Amino acid sequence: MAERITAVKGMNDIAPPTSAHWEWLEDRLRQLMGRYGYRNLRTPVVEPTALFIRGLGEVTDIVEKEMYSFEDRLNGEQLTLRPENTAGVVRAVAEANMLYDGAKRLYYMGPMFRHERPQRGRYRQFHQFGAEALGFAGPDVDAELIVMACDLWRDLGLQGIELQINSLGQPDERLAHRQALIAYLESHADLLDEDARRRLHTNPLRILDTKNPSMQSLVEAAPRLMDHLGEASLAHFSRLRELLDAHGVGYSVNPRLVRGMDYYNLSVFEFVTTQLGSQGTICAGGRYDGLFAQLGAKAAPAVGWALGMERILELLKEQDRLPGQPVPDVYAVVPDVSALARVMPVLQALRRKGVAVQMHAAGPDGAMGSMKSQFKKADASGASHALVFGADELAQGMVAVKPLRGERKAEEPVAQQMLPLSQTEDWAERLLRG
Ligand code: ATP
Ligand code: MG
Repeated sequence: MAERITAVKGMNDIAPPTSAHWEWLEDRLRQLMGRYGYRNLRTPVVEPTALFIRGLGEVTDIVEKEMYSFEDRLNGEQLTLRPENTAGVVRAVAEANMLYDGAKRLYYMGPMFRHERPQRGRYRQFHQFGAEALGFAGPDVDAELIVMACDLWRDLGLQGIELQINSLGQPDERLAHRQALIAYLESHADLLDEDARRRLHTNPLRILDTKNPSMQSLVEAAPRLMDHLGEASLAHFSRLRELLDAHGVGYSVNPRLVRGMDYYNLSVFEFVTTQLGSQGTICAGGRYDGLFAQLGAKAAPAVGWALGMERILELLKEQDRLPGQPVPDVYAVVPDVSALARVMPVLQALRRKGVAVQMHAAGPDGAMGSMKSQFKKADASGASHALVFGADELAQGMVAVKPLRGERKAEEPVAQQMLPLSQTEDWAERLLRG
């Protein structure tokens, strides 16, 4: 036998019954976006590598070590599987000049790719859903985005999610803080780990985001960016806080919240849970007013967030909030293959009325199987009714209707009702009305 080919490590198939949970979550998200007036944008999975190097910043985890980059064999272009979608959204919006007639609210969803160590809540292909508000200076839309995420947790029935916020100020304020921070870290050089030493002069702010426990107290006492913010940045932040307060949204200010990408300024935030082990951030975002210009486009303010679909689904499972599986309304029992030409159009008519019908079809051996095995399948399908297309019934232009659920006990003979084939559509309407 030929060697079996398996999926790429860290990249998962999403099959039934799990895929039904995904579809359900996607529906809820689409509805939420509709209520807030966000419209869908779909960008390519592959982008020029330069988009991410310039957009995310050279000294970031993603660009340094997580990107799936390759050269197009046919024309030598440098390409990358998107590790995130914000840079792609900004590229697309600028390229089509979408802001010419005013600001836009957009959302996206789809697979992202990062070469990380696979573990619970961390995959190499994972899925993000993101909302972006482009052309708005905030802080009202910053608050709108955060409130929208809170509505989602409520809508999904999720609990125990905490919001952390911070302000990264503007580039010049960050520069002043950066100098103070470098001086502080240099004076404690002996306490820095390898990553921190490497980043000391390239991206010291990222050192504050370290996950190394032995550096926590050092980081705790470091100069705070908040103390270097000017009046306008502080006003933006306090207005955001006021708006969150007005919504009754609880949050804590985390001065060490810096986020993984360089493009952020002013408001940044994360929604975290303690229920998913170390991959506790389920949704994160912030303002990125400099990104358009950084990508060579006309400057425009923007803010957004992205949530990790796998982590949300894991949390839903943890809190027992996942929906049940979809079931058909009707299972069609067809004892004899020769009846199919008569039966299948009847089923099609039912489906056109909106009834979900699962037809018993021939198995791998091409045979329909015994009545007993067909009824077993009908029961397992979860359908409320079986339609039994026996030869005798069909000869009289009839079909037998058998309820599969309700009061009856398994051993009891079931009250089976005869229905003229000409009345199946009326029956379907009654069934749908309940
Ligand atoms: P982390 O600190 O967990 O690596 P991040 O800051 O790199 O997260 P973002 O780039 O902000 O994450 O992405 C937004 C969200 O996407 C995260 O909060 C998380 O829920 C999800 N996410 C990020 N990377 C992965 C991954 N490799 N696998 C699954 N979900 C992920
Ligand atoms: Mg990461």
